[in-house]
Amino acid sequence: MQTIYQTFQKHLAEELEAIQAAGLYKNERIIASPQSVDITLQSGQKVLNFCANNYLGLSDNKELVNAACKAMESHGYGMSSVRFICGTQDLHKQLEAVIARFFGTEDTILYAACFDANGGVFEPLLDENDAIISDALNHASIIDGVRLCKAVRYRYANADMQSLEEQLQAAQAQRFRLIVTDGVFSMDGNVAPLDKIHALAQKYNAMIMVDESHSAGVVGKTGRGTTEAFNLRGKVEIITGTLGKAFGGAIGGFTTGRKEIIAMLRQRSRPYLFSNSLPPAVVGAGIYTFGYLERSSELQNKLHENTDYFVDRMLQAGFDIKPTQSAICAVMLYDAKLSQDMAAKLLEEGIYVAGFYYPVVPKGQARIRLQISAAHRREQLDKCIQAFTKVGRELGVLKKN
Ligand SMILES: *Cc1c(COP(=O)(O)O)cnc(C)c1O
Repeated sequence: MQTIYQTFQKHLAEELEAIQAAGLYKNERIIASPQSVDITLQSGQKVLNFCANNYLGLSDNKELVNAACKAMESHGYGMSSVRFICGTQDLHKQLEAVIARFFGTEDTILYAACFDANGGVFEPLLDENDAIISDALNHASIIDGVRLCKAVRYRYANADMQSLEEQLQAAQAQRFRLIVTDGVFSMDGNVAPLDKIHALAQKYNAMIMVDESHSAGVVGKTGRGTTEAFNLRGKVEIITGTLGKAFGGAIGGFTTGRKEIIAMLRQRSRPYLFSNSLPPAVVGAGIYTFGYLERSSELQNKLHENTDYFVDRMLQAGFDIKPTQSAICAVMLYDAKLSQDMAAKLLEEGIYVAGFYYPVVPKGQARIRLQISAAHRREQLDKCIQAFTKVGRELGVLKKN
């Protein structure tokens, strides 16, 4: 007689084998140094990193580390409470204020992660009388957040304004309408056409939510995100974002926008009410980061310069690259195995990248996705381009000119 766990164990083993057999098993690759553009792998190999969300190069920034240490010294290690019982420090209020200033919004609420911000934003605001109109390629956390809400769901094809318009027409049956989009879509690096979305929202009486996780710090002249790029600062109702990408990369998320919306989230948003406060170190470093970005756009300028340089040279070398408007550069290979072989050969050349294939991207759309950082030096970008060209030639993926 098998115990319940023996039966379950067998079931899990079969499922895990099926994942392996489908070639979809995710292995963790171990880094033995701080996160940076130069990293040391567990094998001791030193490589150039092109697959972190470290857009502004702040992950190992000394000033951030100092700001985190100082906040720990002055405000302790942990909060041991949710925000509304006894987990709010002056630091949390300061960080919420600087984030609102950065995005030109009225108020901000912090979460443990953007996954939580998105998980907790819909259900408190909308109900079965309302409609959520969501881009088909929105992040998993938006999809999960929408599932937790009773609003009627509509889905439009990625960044497709005709499809959005059709869905908005269908959604006229509901009371309130909220259009939801990522600012930058992480697999292609394309930016949501927020100007057109805004025009449709006006025409069909809808509100807008943008998740700026991959666009904040990156898109727009000073990196304020898609609302800056399309001249819509203060004109969308809700922005969500992460502290885990451009802004130092530790942990933490936020929702920023209209003050009544933020006020309601403080009352009813479950990941806020029932999960611990961000620790002082993360909050102190966050205040430093947004303060720095308020004073200087040097890092954003450097990132834009690096991205333009890199994409230009890669196109010249004959690679097929998705048109990007962010710091994400998708080198299209189409074939899943080729994407894995190419990533492995690049690693031998000291270039750390990730190949993506179905189901992370559509079938036949395999690629290597690179993420450029303000911290990449010119010679490091050149080294990467040279390695790609060498390996690309060996694997026959370069376009003949
Ligand atoms: C990374 C990401 C998230 C999750 O952010 P975390 O703070 O890591 O939970 C949410 N939305 C989008 C669009 C993202 O890219």
